[in-house]
Formats: sequence, C-alpha cells, structure tokens
Amino acid sequence: RGNQAEKEIPFAKPTSLTRVFAVASGKGGVGKSSVTVNLAAAMAERGHKVGVVDADIYGHSVPRMLGVSASPTKVEDMIMPPTAHDLKVISVGMFTQGNQPVVWRGPMLHRALQQFLADVFWGDLDILLMDLPPGTGDIAISVAQLVPNAEILVVTTPQQAAAEVAERAGAISAQTHQRVAGVIENMSYYIAPGSDERTYLFGEGGGQLVADGLTKALGAEVPLLGQVPIDIRLREASDEGTPFVLGDPEAAASQTLRQVADSL
Ligand code: ADP
Repeated sequence: RGNQAEKEIPFAKPTSLTRVFAVASGKGGVGKSSVTVNLAAAMAERGHKVGVVDADIYGHSVPRMLGVSASPTKVEDMIMPPTAHDLKVISVGMFTQGNQPVVWRGPMLHRALQQFLADVFWGDLDILLMDLPPGTGDIAISVAQLVPNAEILVVTTPQQAAAEVAERAGAISAQTHQRVAGVIENMSYYIAPGSDERTYLFGEGGGQLVADGLTKALGAEVPLLGQVPIDIRLREASDEGTPFVLGDPEAAASQTLRQVADSL
C-alpha cells in the first residue's frame, strides 16, 4: 500500500492510446450515469474496447445499470474487473460492504481512484469512461492530476438552475487545463406514446446555455453534442441492467446517444 503513490497510471502517459472521458454534472439525478453506460455500450458495439470506472461515490449505480453482480477478482497484484455487455467495469460499490453509504474523504477518494486506474487490469483499452460524482468536488481535481489528458463531458438537464451548476462543474477544467469535449442535455423533452408532440417537462435551453457559457469561459468551442429525450423505457432498462441503446436501439433516446458516441 505504501508505494501506491509511485504506481504509474497507464492512461496518464503521453503515449497512451486510450482516450479517457470523465463524465461530470453539476447536480445529481440528471442522468450522468445513464449517459455514461449508454455511451460506453454504444462505443463497445462499434467494436471499441471500452472500460467504465464508476467513481460516483454517492451514487455508484453503474453496476446495477449494466447488470453486473460479480465482484472483481484478484490475480497476483492486479484487480480483474467484471465484464458486462462487452464492457470492463469497476465501481466504488464493489469495494464497500452491502449498501452502506461511503463517507470517504478527499485523500482516500484520490487513492481509490488511483488504484482503480493503476491496479485494475484494463488491458489495451480504446476508451475509458469515468462516471464522476456530481458537483465540482475533489474528485474532479484528482482526475485532472491522475489523468491530465482526460476529456470532460458535461451532462445537464434543460433547466436553467441545473445549467448554472453544470457550467460551474465544467468551468473547473479551465483551471485544470482539460479539454471539454462537449455537453449532453438529458431529459430534454417527452413524447407521449402515440403522439409526436414534444413536451418540455424541464424547460428548454439548458444544454445550449452550458455549451455557450463554457465556450466563453474556456475560449475554445464546446459543442452541444445531443439532446436526449425522456423515455420511461430507458429508466426501466437501466433498472433491469441493460443499456437502453442495446435493448431498444430504435428509440429516439438511443439514436441520440449513439450519435453522441459516434461524434466523440
Ligand atoms: P445521475 O447519475 O446524474 O445521478 P442517473 O443516471 O442515475 O443520474 O439517472 C437518474 C434517474 O433518472 C435514473 O432512474 C435513470 O434511469 C433516470 N433517467 C436518466 N435519464 C433518463 C431519460 N432520458 N429518460 C428517462 N429516465 C431517465
């Protein structure tokens, strides 16, 4: 344990061929984890080798969303991550007892994240997606330190209030000099079955607002990558452990998520 700090993280090397995306949001419940698992599944379906790190200590919902119940195994000094839907998955939840809340503090979190990146046998990944806790907390700084070349994806709802906090979460990358790959607006609208009318349950414009705000703050173009509609079946699919893009590829939400994955 003592030499954790010296252990090198393969993805952090300038020569690393793995693209790392850290998925961030201002607040919880906006669909950050749902977006993460669906982007990951869509990328894996295209033939990419994809890993997912669930670093959302407060939420850690990724294993459930991917239907992973297996625990990681240990081979020599490496941690072998369970796989599901062609994805390698590691989660804080796999290292806690039962459903206990995690009360780790900054330095412990940093070390956990470091271990996820350095001690887990990921193999040669094309893409690593990291589901961060909501907000602008310590973990965003840790990611910047541990994987300086990680790119940020910001998830927000269309709501004005959510957009403001999401923008703040994204703006942290100005200090850490990380690239913000884009903004994904989730829960953008709802279309009732048998209708083609969009209902904007959470208002409109949040995603564009965040994209514009970040473009201005960072002095670099931050695009709005997609607007994912609300779909009850998406929630059901994630409760059942199947990414919606795989279970219902024709749905509008799946198509948008797939387009976002292809655009990265
Ligand atoms: P976060 O990671 O931001 O806390 P989650 O991904 O856990 O958010 O999503 C919160 C809840 O909303 C989950 O029950 C999820 O299934 C549901 N959800 C997320 N996005 C959508 C969507 N586009 N349509 C319907 N339900 C959604």
